[in-house]
Amino acid sequence: MPRPLNPQVLPLKQSGIRAASERCRREGGINLGQGVCDIETPELIRSAATTAIEGNRNMYSACEGAPALRQKIAEKIASFNLIDVTPNNVLVTHGSTGAFVCALKTLFQPGDEVIVFEPFYGYHKGLLNLFDIQVKSAQINLTDLSIDLDEVGKTITDKTRAILICTPNNPTGKVYSKEELTALGQLAKKHDLWIITDEIYEYITYPGHEHVSLASLEDFKDRTLTISGFSKTYNMTGWRLGYVSGPAEVIAKMGLVQDLLYVCPTTPLQHAVLAAFDLPESYYRNMREAFLKKRDHMVSVLQQLGFQVCVPQGAYYIMADFSTLGFENDQVAADTLFEKAKVATVTGRSFYINPADGANSLRFCYALTEAKVNQALESLMSCALHDVVS
Ligand code: PLP
Repeated sequence: MPRPLNPQVLPLKQSGIRAASERCRREGGINLGQGVCDIETPELIRSAATTAIEGNRNMYSACEGAPALRQKIAEKIASFNLIDVTPNNVLVTHGSTGAFVCALKTLFQPGDEVIVFEPFYGYHKGLLNLFDIQVKSAQINLTDLSIDLDEVGKTITDKTRAILICTPNNPTGKVYSKEELTALGQLAKKHDLWIITDEIYEYITYPGHEHVSLASLEDFKDRTLTISGFSKTYNMTGWRLGYVSGPAEVIAKMGLVQDLLYVCPTTPLQHAVLAAFDLPESYYRNMREAFLKKRDHMVSVLQQLGFQVCVPQGAYYIMADFSTLGFENDQVAADTLFEKAKVATVTGRSFYINPADGANSLRFCYALTEAKVNQALESLMSCALHDVVS
């Protein structure tokens, strides 16, 4: 009889995203599943990493992060996110995921409820569950990416402690408007809730949609933790560097939680990432233009293939509905696309509490290089999905 494990970890299993990536790696294919960009980390930042290591920046940093980096991040948050902060409002973290973990441990107790918009980013729900925090959901309508504020209001109970917002959104590509964020902030204020915003895709927005940080609006700053990071903007998911801003006393406590969990974020890479702040404006413009081109191409191909798609407003994902194509369910659809076209996608069920709610959708990611995205789309076009299903 094996000794028992913590019952909280018993439901954990490999995520749909990792499963698809594993299969893709094993059997060879193009991975439009996982949100990984294989474009190089800017040279400026890579060589700064070598310099930092050679310069022996190799010891623990302060648990809140290296002071020079906290300062730079505070300046960026003030100028880009329009949130008035000082370095005391900023914690450098072990990826934005580390920021989320520290936030959960600092703000909530087991049994508390947090409202999450569905479809959601799987780690949000997974981590809330791991901390025994109840996930309550409100829907993002996939046909027009709208949300229903009345639904959010009705989801609030006396156990609700926070609303979690991901903008630009993974997996739908929704960019929350200023009006939506204002209304959500007012709702949080009315019920005295925290707000956590995950803004990791903040630099990836498309024409007609502007990134707005909820903490920059009205007086919401005092109840809001704004999470972001370097992984997506600079193609450095493996560096595990992120940050969070919020009220100074909350950030100080989160720093102590981080000290116990991780001691500190990786020191040499904190020094190296300072170089990111020297990149010119054109870096961000070029990145947006490159993603826009890939978005338009992917939307057009998926529509030609018979998927129903609401054009993403930001980030680099598309939730595509295949109802008219006749696949039995999302797993069958993902398996078929992989077997016939060698293209990996993520099953819709990975983004919903009730798997049946995702049974008609797949998530496609267009973060890979243009050549690989084009190759995957050509492969999908050439396998004539209608014939495959019938
Ligand atoms: N938040 C969202 C919405 C994501 O999509 C991802 C990665 O896919 C992350 C956070 C993880 O970010 P990090 O690498 O900074 O932990």
